[in-house]
Amino acid sequence: MVYLEKSQPAPACLAEEKTKANGNYKCGEVLDRLKDDFKNKCYICEDEGPISIDVEHFVPHKGDKDLKFDWSNLFLACTHCNRTKGVAYKDVLNCTHKNDNVDQNIRYLVDPFPSFKVDIRSLIEDARTETTKNLLRAVYNGETPTQKLESGNLRKKLQAEIKSFQSLLDRYNRADDEEKRYLAGKLKEHLDNASSFTAFKRWIIRDSAALAETFQDCLEQSQ
Ligand SMILES: [Zn+2]
Repeated sequence: MVYLEKSQPAPACLAEEKTKANGNYKCGEVLDRLKDDFKNKCYICEDEGPISIDVEHFVPHKGDKDLKFDWSNLFLACTHCNRTKGVAYKDVLNCTHKNDNVDQNIRYLVDPFPSFKVDIRSLIEDARTETTKNLLRAVYNGETPTQKLESGNLRKKLQAEIKSFQSLLDRYNRADDEEKRYLAGKLKEHLDNASSFTAFKRWIIRDSAALAETFQDCLEQSQ
């Protein structure tokens, strides 16, 4: 999970749909705006270009029209994450709020050997951070038999992405100055919030003092 800025103002159709008996919150430009704001990623698992997309109400609306048509409450999630979050994980960190520090207060780890594993740890004692950590663990590791299958597919995508990031890093560490400049540009693309699984990649950088210094700008929340 990384910080993603929600564009303003809200799509005008939402206010209009809110006045109708059976208004549609996926009206007009809503889907396109969500796709842009969330960089075509699921905000929870950070899978870029997910096959299944849900418009999630960050705070479940339960029929409350204010929450149902509130632009700041509409998020882009994949079906796997939306279902996993369900009603079980209430009050998680909000990735559109810079102060929630979603990729700094939570540590995203991959352990490639002997089998690819994901570990998520909270770095501060805070109820919402703890709930978010538990949601992310459920998302990447699965709880029910179906979710375990989905999580396995998600981890395969994560593994492939981390492998290509690591091989770029290996090349970068061995490169001469000219090639280093070129590869730094490629690495920065991976560390941008529009990339897949950015939080994991940022933690690989944070775990190396030298790399963290070189790519410090890419580790800020506003990126
Ligand atoms: Zn997801």
